Amino acid sequence: MKKIALFPGSFDPLTMGHLSTIERGAQIFDEVIVGIFINTNKKSLLSTEEKVQLAKEAVAYLPNVKVISQQTELTVQTARRLGAKFLLRGIRNGSDYEYEKDIMTMNRHLDPEIETVFLMAETQYSHISSSLLKETLLFQGDVKKYLPENVYEAIKKKREPR
Ligand code: ADP
Repeated sequence: MKKIALFPGSFDPLTMGHLSTIERGAQIFDEVIVGIFINTNKKSLLSTEEKVQLAKEAVAYLPNVKVISQQTELTVQTARRLGAKFLLRGIRNGSDYEYEKDIMTMNRHLDPEIETVFLMAETQYSHISSSLLKETLLFQGDVKKYLPENVYEAIKKKREPR
């Protein structure tokens, strides 16, 4: 049976850290589905449509990766619907570990048949988050190497004073 992993997140925006996890996941699983979901604790800079478009362009070079979005169901329900037996998540540091452990335990409670698989962040990206990059860009800091090119251009445009 095809091994499918769902990589859920808010991706506001997708960073090189995310892309590294996706790329490495794509070598482990037959298919990786990037799920653009809502994080109710975070205020979004990009619309879901913009995130989907940018993510699709950024992963276009990976033939076994696709991008979807949904805002109404639980992550495990989406995984089940898509035939994904695995959830893929990234861990950068100790606080991610604590945060991710609770989400994993809840997801296991909701659907014990779905396994969460964690990939440790690459050292070169382990200090970056979407929020840190947005914050840095807001004050014209150089974050080019931490974003896929299309994402960098899109975010820069958003942040330009009108
Ligand atoms: P969420 O709002 O669900 O945490 P994010 O888009 O912030 O969504 O992150 C999605 C996943 O990617 C999470 O598992 C997060 O830990 C992981 N991640 C975020 N940044 C990086 C990075 N720089 N390197 C590796 N994984 C990362």
